[in-house]
Amino acid sequence: ANFVQIEDVSLRYGDSSSGTLAIEGATLSIADGEFIAVVGPSGCGKSSLLKLVSGLHPPAEGVVRVGGKMVDRPIDICGIAFQNSTLLPWRTTLENVLLPLEIVQPYASNFRKNKAEYEARARELLAAVSLAGFEDRYPWELSGGMQQRASLCRALIHKPKLLLLDEPFGALDAFTREDLWTILQDLCIRERPTVILVTHELREAVFLADTVYVVSPRPGKILRREEVPYARPRT
Ligand code: ADP
Ligand code: ADP
Repeated sequence: ANFVQIEDVSLRYGDSSSGTLAIEGATLSIADGEFIAVVGPSGCGKSSLLKLVSGLHPPAEGVVRVGGKMVDRPIDICGIAFQNSTLLPWRTTLENVLLPLEIVQPYASNFRKNKAEYEARARELLAAVSLAGFEDRYPWELSGGMQQRASLCRALIHKPKLLLLDEPFGALDAFTREDLWTILQDLCIRERPTVILVTHELREAVFLADTVYVVSPRPGKILRREEVPYARPRT
């Protein structure tokens, strides 16, 4: 079944006469558990697409549905990791990673009761991205790449049905980046989130995604849909 459905959607910043048309007439559907990558040049509307799907920006035309429901406000079933780390400076790495469990239901109502279990998962995720030992450091005590890895853990901590990743590995060196591809891939095989990965790295898209969408320069239009010949197990 389709989990995300985007039908003939356009997105505009500002008013219709002088605003920027960022996405024009995009149609795509993403199956439950599918991993798609969206590639295209800078400014083609990739981040805007994530804003549409997460309900952070309304479409000018067309309809976006997630889990069969029309998206008309920000939705909290998604985990989001942006290219620039958005860790809260007054919280430690561990506290940052735990944040979604404190605010997203059903985890939030049981936060006190399940704190030990939640912390164990947070520590496990941090260890998987080589951040064991940095749980009690503050974001400003970490390198850019380390902050980005912690942000990824935060996006994953509540096992979101929908994972939105915007250049999540941009600040990492090539070696760390490829390690993280494998870590993310393993996690996706185990937990089966539906994933939209925005990237301008074609190798990353092909390594991770089931389907790659190629977007034209501004205004973003979907030019091509390519299924990636398969290397990892499907359900
Ligand atoms: P990409 O992620 O592919 O680099 P974006 O979705 O960020 O592209 O941007 C698409 C277009 O919309 C660009 O021309 C960008 O300048 C413009 N844009 C993005 N965000 C805003 C905004 N908040 N206000 C006005 N224009 C914006
Ligand atoms: P990154 O690719 O993570 O940005 P850097 O080149 O900044 O890496 O740092 C390389 C390694 O040095 C990090 O992965 C980490 O192990 C260590 N490191 C960097 N900054 C810090 C810090 N503030 N505290 C502790 N270790 C650090």
